[in-house]
Amino acid sequence: MSVPIPPPQRKTPAPLADEAARCVACGLCLPHCPTYRKTLSEADSPRGRIALMQGVLERRIPANERFQAHIDLCLACRACENVCPNNVEYGRLINGVRGIVEKSRRRSVLQRLGRRMLVDGVATKPAVLRLAGGALRTWQAMAGKAGWMMRLGLARIATRLPQLRPQPVWQAVYPAMGKARGEVGLFLGCVARVTDVETLSASIFVLNRLGYMVHVPPRQGCCGAMHVGLGESEKASAFEGQNLQAFAGMNVEAVISTATGCGAALKNYPQDFAGRVRDISEFLGEADGWGGGWEEAGIAPLAEKMAVHEPCLMRNVLHCQDKPYDLLRRIPGATVVPLAGNDQCCGAAGTYFLTQPDMAASLLADKIEAVKASGARILATSNIGCAMHLAVGLKAAGIEIEVVHPITLLARQMGFENDKNR
Ligand code: SF4
Ligand code: SF4
Repeated sequence: MSVPIPPPQRKTPAPLADEAARCVACGLCLPHCPTYRKTLSEADSPRGRIALMQGVLERRIPANERFQAHIDLCLACRACENVCPNNVEYGRLINGVRGIVEKSRRRSVLQRLGRRMLVDGVATKPAVLRLAGGALRTWQAMAGKAGWMMRLGLARIATRLPQLRPQPVWQAVYPAMGKARGEVGLFLGCVARVTDVETLSASIFVLNRLGYMVHVPPRQGCCGAMHVGLGESEKASAFEGQNLQAFAGMNVEAVISTATGCGAALKNYPQDFAGRVRDISEFLGEADGWGGGWEEAGIAPLAEKMAVHEPCLMRNVLHCQDKPYDLLRRIPGATVVPLAGNDQCCGAAGTYFLTQPDMAASLLADKIEAVKASGARILATSNIGCAMHLAVGLKAAGIEIEVVHPITLLARQMGFENDKNR
């Protein structure tokens, strides 16, 4: 039986310098680091970066531009953390140091303004995002028709964005269908509610049909991952407080996330909340053990080969990378295979593909080769950032393949496309 989410409790983390000092320089993480594999430079390896960060935290070396370049090139994929025998909390270390460095970083007024507008003025404001989403959809509809867009090259950009769907006004509650099995909360995310309406709607559709009532608290906000990545811990804490309040007292057995970036950020919230966070594939995988209603789900066959891309934070933080395979294998006739090189980041990594385009393109090129070699006609990934980055790369390489969230694929086979209520 589910119980309300109780008020937060949190352990006090060790100071950053003490965390860095826990690295014993064994080097076991090096072969797992995407940037080290590309550059073969110790300063772009986890061990090298930890040594540099320790030097800065102990004020032995300056946080100058050379230092910043090595810190900026890190994808924060946390592959190193996942294999570290000493459990060094690399993610906390890099985010904390980025916050310290950001305060002394030289940026032009224009750069600071642009960054503030993007992160604080648009990306984390649902009302502004709704307007921006509407404007982007109009822009996409005009691409290919408006001559001025063609002349300015804007049509090409518009068609490279994912096809945006109108944003619904989310209901506070979506009732279960058939035999009631439980109640869950759905975390919408901020950017995902514009760019990934389909995944959110598909998740509600599947959960309802399996007997779960879905609560969508209207006052929820951004997960704070963007601010954590930019080293802005106070702002991230404010979003955390907003979300804890939005879900407080709610009688749900799980808080479902559909984007692995958000899920990983929510796992960093106080344990009482974090312990209930589940990726949608993870939750539905566990639903078997609770007598979940798969036998009545009516999943239509799909005789296609589908490759699964495993987002970094799903592997390295959520540790549920096997679950999308289990979900997709419920589709009769589906051949589900892993994408080669799943232990390496695709280069999307939040805003990394914008700030470090060369490394991002090099990592993307490896994924494109892996997709070609797989012979798959569908590429499934559980993170919208990875999906957009991969789709752009594959389209540019002339590869015809659909990039889709596993839950959307499953929902389609359960009649999602024909559902008149969505
Ligand atoms: S595996 Fe852990 S202890 Fe070893 S070098 Fe990497 S971070 Fe340091
Ligand atoms: S987070 Fe990823 S890119 Fe950064 S040091 Fe660790 S493995 Fe390398």
